Amino acid sequence: MFGEKPKCTKCGKEIKGDEVVYIKMRYPKRKGITELKAYLSNEGVFICEDCFQQK
Ligand SMILES: [Zn+2]
Repeated sequence: MFGEKPKCTKCGKEIKGDEVVYIKMRYPKRKGITELKAYLSNEGVFICEDCFQQK
């Protein structure tokens, strides 16, 4: 799915395909993202569901 395997930034768990993840990202300045996955890999911060629900 992604070039490099995404990991949860909190627990370091590898995000597997089909798993629910939360992505914290900056909204792009430019309109239209031609390569969304590449953008997410560069700008996105992944948080797995477990960590996201921890408070
Ligand atoms: Zn996590």
